[in-house]
Amino acid sequence: MKIFLYSKLAEFSIEELKKYLTKRLKAAVVIRGDFLDHFSGAAGGGMDGPGDMEGLARELASFRVLDIEKPFTLNEPMYGEIQYEKKVLEGRAKPGGILYDGIQLHNFFREMIPAEERRLDDVHIIFTDRLFGTFDTNDLRYHARSIICGYPSIISTSGIVEAPAKPREFYIEKQMCSLNDIMGIERLKQKFKGRFIDYNDRRMTEVVKGYTMQAVFYQLFHEAFCEDKNCRLYNAHWQEELIDAQMKPPEFCKVHEKMLD
Ligand SMILES: [Zn+2]
Repeated sequence: MKIFLYSKLAEFSIEELKKYLTKRLKAAVVIRGDFLDHFSGAAGGGMDGPGDMEGLARELASFRVLDIEKPFTLNEPMYGEIQYEKKVLEGRAKPGGILYDGIQLHNFFREMIPAEERRLDDVHIIFTDRLFGTFDTNDLRYHARSIICGYPSIISTSGIVEAPAKPREFYIEKQMCSLNDIMGIERLKQKFKGRFIDYNDRRMTEVVKGYTMQAVFYQLFHEAFCEDKNCRLYNAHWQEELIDAQMKPPEFCKVHEKMLD
């Protein structure tokens, strides 16, 4: 088994993640830098020289979710949206405040992996700071996701911050702040500091280890999640559950520890 990690994010240490996976899985782990850089060649440093940056930006912009209460339809991107995507690809802007359809993104990434690299014993894991979500047909709205397990798997550092809910009291107090009260929100974040993963959080590397393991388990056993709240494979819906599962020993429940062996 070979594990390919794609990331150029500063939010966590890819080297530490590699060390961890090598030790726990006894697998070959390869760090490849940013996925789009690697395969499209569009954003520089790619395999095929200068690629079609405009086309890539247009494609990504078309996956934007414009209305979180409607199922996905391809966005016909406007000039400004394409220009913004280009800036993100060039590393001149962050993809903040944009929600992408996770399924579209996933399918698009899968198609970019050349056929000769789509081996079943290869695991491709893409890390991004783009925020993606999936449309839930039960409550008819989009929900942000931290991970999409599949071939490849995609893990979003922004999703880790935004998808699991913060403590209930946080939202109650937040309702009392006005929307433009940035200082108020910052004060609130300080008050609840430690109880949720924030942007540029030093715990991100530890949390990412757990999500990466979910992706690996999904590919090996078609089982990404665990019911045990103390297991790294626990599908946390709350930030506090996430922190408990990823930061506190034991790492895995007995069943999953055994499967690792
Ligand atoms: Zn478990």
